[in-house]
Amino acid sequence: MGILIQHGTVVNADSTVQVDVLIEGEKIAAVGADLPADGHTLVDATGLLVMPGGIDVHTHLDMPFGGTTSADDYLTGTRAAAIGGTTAVIDFALQSRGHTLAEALATWDAKAVGNACVDYSLHMAITDLGPNFETLDEMQAMLDRGVSTFKLFMAYPNVLMIDDGLMFRVFQRAAKLNALCLIHAENGSAIDVVVAQTLAAGHTAPVWHALSRSTRAEAEATHRAIALADMAGATVYIVHLSNEDSLRELKHAQERGVRALAETCTQYLVLSLEEQMPDESFEAAKYVFTPPLREKKNQARLWEALADGALCVVSTDHCPFRFGDQKSLGKDDFTKIPNGGPGIENRMQLMWHFGVNAGLISPERFVALTAAEPARVFGMDSKGAIAVGKDADILLWDPKADYTISSATQAMATDYSMFEGWQVKGNVARVFSRGELIVDAGRFIGEPGRGKFLKRRANAGELF
Ligand SMILES: [Zn+2]
Repeated sequence: MGILIQHGTVVNADSTVQVDVLIEGEKIAAVGADLPADGHTLVDATGLLVMPGGIDVHTHLDMPFGGTTSADDYLTGTRAAAIGGTTAVIDFALQSRGHTLAEALATWDAKAVGNACVDYSLHMAITDLGPNFETLDEMQAMLDRGVSTFKLFMAYPNVLMIDDGLMFRVFQRAAKLNALCLIHAENGSAIDVVVAQTLAAGHTAPVWHALSRSTRAEAEATHRAIALADMAGATVYIVHLSNEDSLRELKHAQERGVRALAETCTQYLVLSLEEQMPDESFEAAKYVFTPPLREKKNQARLWEALADGALCVVSTDHCPFRFGDQKSLGKDDFTKIPNGGPGIENRMQLMWHFGVNAGLISPERFVALTAAEPARVFGMDSKGAIAVGKDADILLWDPKADYTISSATQAMATDYSMFEGWQVKGNVARVFSRGELIVDAGRFIGEPGRGKFLKRRANAGELF
């Protein structure tokens, strides 16, 4: 006996049709018109959209940063994800300098096990190749364990940044292994000079974090990362692309046939430097993340790129810190504000309201950006579509539901929302994860720890 979802409208990345969906066990067993009831548990989805559960490919749960740790651990973070309609996340394991990738994987796995409420996977952030480039040889071992993507930082010198030569070596090895490389593209060396000069001039307020990290610094690194990946024959994915300057570099490369992909994040689509950081008040620390908020004029270009395909994924870069006792570490010095914002719970609502309702993207494109492309790009063959044989990660979405976003009612562990008081139309009605109803009436009803580690396939060569 299964679960039969009746009378709903199934939206996939390539179609919208009125069909029923049968779940058997953890999988989708049938999709078709008027499927027989046959003693199945019936779910009436009249007036609802039936879509693949969201996949957020860029989160930082339980992550150490600047002497503190991101406020959501795997339990609260993935529970908030589920409530917001996201049924899989890819988080980042971070290699500590002088340590192996295997150690990083063990550390992050321990954070997730027993806590994850939805399925999860990991990217591996490489920060140290070792004196004899031993780390390169460890990349294959990561693929064997289902960690098929590698992240490199061009920002944060002396902490996370690796130089061009080392980055090029990783690209060469990734090309051989068919693995995708993710790049944080900002010119960290130049930014650090500007930051030092900014502080020396007496500018310490949060807005100066944004003002010291220019779009040119991001565009330069975007260009350089793509050029080096191209030289090495690797496929590259730029994370959190935030502005028009960087987008121009990406598009030029794509027009020449270079194998470059990119995501943007919800915050760059709906928040801006002018609106959220209008002055030197410390309130603006709520919006200190990297890359920073950009001028509002960039938003329209990003939406266009989501519609035309230059950008293929929307993630959150969810990296939450409480305002009261964590962001406040930087009260007198913006460089000490932990970088990141809470977003994992609101991605689907914001993309629907400001994307679909506003006519900027279609419902099918919404599914592509939030689920189908994340599954395809990141080698998760069992996810990302309402189709026979896929995991029954299913979102019942009410396009008419009104919802007010607020820290008072959110599941995320922060004491503020970046979207406080915003009213959106379109919200989660129910969420199934591998066939199990885990969210109903806005509440998570699954068991913490039920989320499984998702092994992903190296597939960079198939992406173009
Ligand atoms: Zn990030």
